[in-house]
Amino acid sequence: MAEQETSCEVLVIGGGPAGSTIAALLAQRGRDVLMLEKSKHPRFHIGESLLPMNMPMFEELGLLDEIKRIGIVKLGAEFVSPWHPAPVMIDFNDSLDNTWPSAYQVRRDEFDEVMFKNAAAKGARVVEECKVTDVKFLPKEGALVDTLDKDGKTQRIRTKFVVDASGRDTFLSNHFQMKHRNKKHNSAAMFGHFSGVKRLEGEVEGNISLFWFDHGWFWFIPLPDGNTSIGATCWPYYMKTRGKTDLTQFFMDTIAMCPALMERMKDAKLETPVTATGNFSYLSERSSGENYILLGDAFAFIDPIFSSGVFLAMASSFAGATAVERCLSKPQEAEQALKEFDKAIMQGPKVFSWFIYRITTPAMRNLLMYKGAESKVKKALISILIGDVYRTERYSFWLLMFKLMYYTGSVLHLPSTIKAWFKRKRSIQVLDVAVTETYGQ
Ligand SMILES: Cc1cc2nc3c(=O)[nH]c(=O)nc-3n(C[C@H](O)[C@H](O)[C@H](O)COP(=O)(O)OP(=O)(O)OC[C@H]3O[C@@H](n4cnc5c(N)ncnc54)[C@H](O)[C@@H]3O)c2cc1C
Repeated sequence: MAEQETSCEVLVIGGGPAGSTIAALLAQRGRDVLMLEKSKHPRFHIGESLLPMNMPMFEELGLLDEIKRIGIVKLGAEFVSPWHPAPVMIDFNDSLDNTWPSAYQVRRDEFDEVMFKNAAAKGARVVEECKVTDVKFLPKEGALVDTLDKDGKTQRIRTKFVVDASGRDTFLSNHFQMKHRNKKHNSAAMFGHFSGVKRLEGEVEGNISLFWFDHGWFWFIPLPDGNTSIGATCWPYYMKTRGKTDLTQFFMDTIAMCPALMERMKDAKLETPVTATGNFSYLSERSSGENYILLGDAFAFIDPIFSSGVFLAMASSFAGATAVERCLSKPQEAEQALKEFDKAIMQGPKVFSWFIYRITTPAMRNLLMYKGAESKVKKALISILIGDVYRTERYSFWLLMFKLMYYTGSVLHLPSTIKAWFKRKRSIQVLDVAVTETYGQ
């Protein structure tokens, strides 16, 4: 039974990048925003590599200098394939529109705290160690939200609008039982931070590296504190081979399967516990309803290969802020506002997923490993890699050419293409994978 009742105009569940972005934007527009975060910043979170197209959003939030202060500059991405003779470096500056030619790698404990404090500085009321436990929607009025704080105190909050930015907890999606696993994709990950890792040299030191191996791929993200975040994203069947092996041992054994990565980790020392997480590819049935919207991971997540999670979360918040503002100021336009929001939130995952679903095919690998950065087709690919996914109509011709080259390559190497698709089909099957050590639970 709730003890007290209080109120706000907009209640935001979760103070990660999505929640902090929309809370800042709506507070800046004069809305009475209350953001509740169940944990306390700074706290660990995975997802340390940002995209160039995050930068205009930081600028709008007044955070460019802060992100520069806590980050290490990322000018591009290195792809390392055991099936190709040499690594390929992609330079973000080679995208079709290179207004934003770089991004940053950040420690998420610092980054999320900066974002959270910014929302408070912009006027949002923010509360940590306060978990949203229940919600009851009241037709035409808003909602009643129940919370529980760290001292066990419960509270009931009356709000006109609920924004779900609860990340992988998917609060509203669970509430409405509308969360579905992505039938086209499935993978799991293990990760940790290491010191003593050999990084790239010179101005590209902060670039992300991606190493393919037989059971998936690794990320290699240099962090500003001198450590490097290393993670293996694997098919579920591979995770199942772990059996009773200790997770750290299994992770180290997996790294040993990738000689190119091992070479850079000869003197590496694990500095954090190894964490594993699974089943991270899912989608909610809808992104909104009367007096609520879902943002970022609370709505959907596909795969970390393109480092798009924080970017999509923040982009959904910008679209969400416009929709919520319109719903509150012109209720008669709410339906249209939410329709437009739904279109916006679907656009990013739609564009990225075409590439994600094909990333393990030989034809896609060959195109990524192709060196001709000056070709318009390659520039179109780099435009996707920087996160320029909301203006694809500007370069739709070159994207189409890329897709044609992909399909031509697939046909030319038909036997290996068919083999890769069968392997993928088998690999994404849901297995009873014992991924027990999950962060943030
Ligand atoms: C293995 C892996 C690697 C990744 N790598 C990258 C990467 O390199 N780059 C990238 O951009 N993205 C990456 N991502 C994705 C990225 O982590 C997420 O997309 C991003 O954090 C989403 O932001 P969000 O604000 O939607 O959710 P979150 O960042 O998860 O924030 C949600 C917040 O809500 C809080 N919360 C949850 N439930 C409640 C509740 N009931 N009440 C109150 N508070 C609540 C949580 O404590 C949390 O702070 C990766 C993801 C995975 C799984």
